[in-house]
Amino acid sequence: MLKEDVKVALLKEKVPLLINGEYVESGSGEWFDTFNPATGETISRVAKGNREDVDKAVAAARSALEKSKWAKWPASRRGQILNRVAAIMRERFNDLVRLEVLNSGKALSAAQGQVHQAIEDFEMYAGAVHTLSGDSKPVPNGFLNYTCKEPVGVCAQIVPWNYPLMMAAWKIAPALAAGCTIVLKPASLTPLTAYALADICMEAGVPAGVVNVVTGSGADIGAYLVEHPGVDKVAFTGETGTGKDIMKSASETLKRVTLELGGKSPGIVFDDADLDAAVDGSIFGIYYNTGMSCEARSRLFVHEAIYDTFVERFVDKAKKLKLGDTFSKETHLGAVISANQWDVIDSYVKLGEEEGAKLLYGGGRPEGEEFQNGHWYLPTVLVDVTNDMRVAQEEIFGPVVVIIKFCDEKDVIRQANDSIYGLAAAVWTKDFGRAHRVAAGLKAGTVMVNNPFSAMPGLPFGGYKQSGFGRELALETLNLYTETKSVNAYVGAKPLNPFGI
Ligand code: NDP
Repeated sequence: MLKEDVKVALLKEKVPLLINGEYVESGSGEWFDTFNPATGETISRVAKGNREDVDKAVAAARSALEKSKWAKWPASRRGQILNRVAAIMRERFNDLVRLEVLNSGKALSAAQGQVHQAIEDFEMYAGAVHTLSGDSKPVPNGFLNYTCKEPVGVCAQIVPWNYPLMMAAWKIAPALAAGCTIVLKPASLTPLTAYALADICMEAGVPAGVVNVVTGSGADIGAYLVEHPGVDKVAFTGETGTGKDIMKSASETLKRVTLELGGKSPGIVFDDADLDAAVDGSIFGIYYNTGMSCEARSRLFVHEAIYDTFVERFVDKAKKLKLGDTFSKETHLGAVISANQWDVIDSYVKLGEEEGAKLLYGGGRPEGEEFQNGHWYLPTVLVDVTNDMRVAQEEIFGPVVVIIKFCDEKDVIRQANDSIYGLAAAVWTKDFGRAHRVAAGLKAGTVMVNNPFSAMPGLPFGGYKQSGFGRELALETLNLYTETKSVNAYVGAKPLNPFGI
């Protein structure tokens, strides 16, 4: 139950689709329930869009691209609007945080950090619009050659449930900066803050039809958006398997695609590391957001000389983590997103034990009345794991760490890279040279050195290998929302006659 003093001002009883600046019921007239994962209670009803709704949203985005002149506005004017979005988000910070906590079951502190970062994204791209520029090449013989950047067009943006608002911001902000128009498809489990953000975009002055939001089944309307001939680009965050389907389907119309997919990110703790920092950082690395992070350091490699001490201290700290009231500042871990995800996590823990791993802590639902409704899972530690086990290779996407012993630098780099994924990695050592040698050897899009924080606006974020491709959160992201046009103009006095006839 929500405590009486917690008011979620942005919560609406019913949330229709947002198409062409208007809130409309879905063509089917159907709705689906959305829940608070911490309690299992229904909190709102959301319109269940169908393919006709997608057609309308894509048509609105296409028309806005061509008619609203959004794409042709001076970049600085789009920048002003992005700053206004950020300013309104700041005014409504607590309301956005509460809505996110309510719909995702995450802990207040996690939601606060993510809403902060979403605001910073808009501020960053408000400035970054000024870097959108072409180039000119000095070419002799009467030619003036130059390039210009143009928006890639209508973008389908499909986001997951683990960071609902932040992922929407990572996608909407650069697309708007580049002058694109958008059809956003939030995850069915967490649709509410995406609508709140789109609402703020309109209030800030983004023209009608530039940001459209449709909710409904990913397998149906998500897949339809990807194959839709009216869409120019797909930006997706989610599971690697879904990413592969999207890439296949988008190839039919050769859409531009960026994919931010799964991970099984290693954290490597050397014997010379500051042990307290390494334990605290590794605890945060896996249990932040209840482990439901693509870049969670879910595969810990610990040097044999410090293995026992590290594991003991790690488990001591894991036991101190607070679960419970998601609206409390004191809570570290919120709920797992759904009953289905709870079952996935639990079945992996059981599988780990069958594979020969030892369950040192956690595994299952916490005791206590407040944890019996909703989807709660204890922070969990599996040791005696080897890198070939499925629990070390597959994304569990929950508060479960596997700990593996290693003996030397070369071997740990090899093992860390022995994964289909390559999203992020962390290195804990006081040896400056080793830190950078290992960072160079790791096949990962982000390497954290003596630091638990993986994503910071301005620093490109994205994957190697099957963790996807394309980078978000950075200046180079703008390139992924633009096409480069080369203009080669003859300006010489004497007409050209290449055949000489
Ligand atoms: P998905 O990848 O299936 O879903 C992510 C988004 O894609 C949602 O908006 C979903 O819609 C949509 N979607 C689903 N299928 C399609 C499709 N065929 N075409 C287009 N869009 C589609 O992840 P799940 O939510 O099902 O989670 C499953 C697993 O994925 C988790 O257990 C976890 O391991 C991993 N995951 C990884 C994330 C990451 O950031 N790396 C994020 C979330 C999950 P809808 O919600 O309506 O199904």
